[in-house]
Amino acid sequence: MAKLWFDGAIADAGALQASLDTHALHYGSGVFEGIRSYATRAGAAVFRLPEHLERMRKGADLLGIALDVQQVRDATMQALRANDHRDAYIRPLAWIGAGGFGLDVAGHPQHLMVATTPTQVHLGGGKTRMTVSPWRRNPADSLPPLKLCGAYVNSILAKREAKGRGFDEALFVDAQGFVVECTGANVFMVKAGRVTAVEHRDALPGITRDTLITLSRAEARAVTLDELRDADEVFACGTAAEVAPIAALDDRIYGDNPVGRELAALYARVVRGAESASHAWLTQF
Ligand code: PMP
Repeated sequence: MAKLWFDGAIADAGALQASLDTHALHYGSGVFEGIRSYATRAGAAVFRLPEHLERMRKGADLLGIALDVQQVRDATMQALRANDHRDAYIRPLAWIGAGGFGLDVAGHPQHLMVATTPTQVHLGGGKTRMTVSPWRRNPADSLPPLKLCGAYVNSILAKREAKGRGFDEALFVDAQGFVVECTGANVFMVKAGRVTAVEHRDALPGITRDTLITLSRAEARAVTLDELRDADEVFACGTAAEVAPIAALDDRIYGDNPVGRELAALYARVVRGAESASHAWLTQF
């Protein structure tokens, strides 16, 4: 049976419950992370764990959740070992528990869990068809680009709308025509061999994006939708998506994505510890 770490101990996942008046269930008052571990030649390891935990801490601070980063780190290791995982997706979640329906979270209990699930090795099909969303991304001055639970309703609306029109993924564009990001991934483009990382204040500062900027020496700057449509290649990236070539953006069909595929292969080697760049980014467990 799957095990997870909850409030200080490893337990059977199926034996745990949260009460229906959990504050986070009603208002999204929680913060989470999406992290991955990989089987490497030197044993299983978590990719860029400190960076993920630091982002989670920033979100927790905003909600007044006292997050002990070292505890989340230890809980992650314990959950991975308890499940005997190697290639896994790791989901830490800190949230406000039961204590009334008021919006003031002061005095409410706070909880922490870390769940891990095995991941399948992606084949990198490059078949993702994306559409420009009619929804706007949460503006950073209303909801900061962190992994706050409630903020993800915005992504859910965009994903649902895109899938309803037969697409796989939605692209957020701002009112001025600048590209923001996808529902759960950042965006890159390639033009004449030059790799550019889309930069936008409303987009989550992705750790995969940061990794790819380092690996490819990509330029990071604002990109308009017109420029993206005119690019030779577009790819999305994120912890779960890794490097995902985009086949089409609405009626714009991209070609073979050779640079994106090469970067996807490099990223796959880096996360599995097969490149010199890997070592500083891997935490063995
Ligand atoms: N944007 C959003 C909205 C996301 O949810 C994610 C996934 N965490 C990303 C971008 C990619 O971030 P990362 O590379 O850190 O997983």
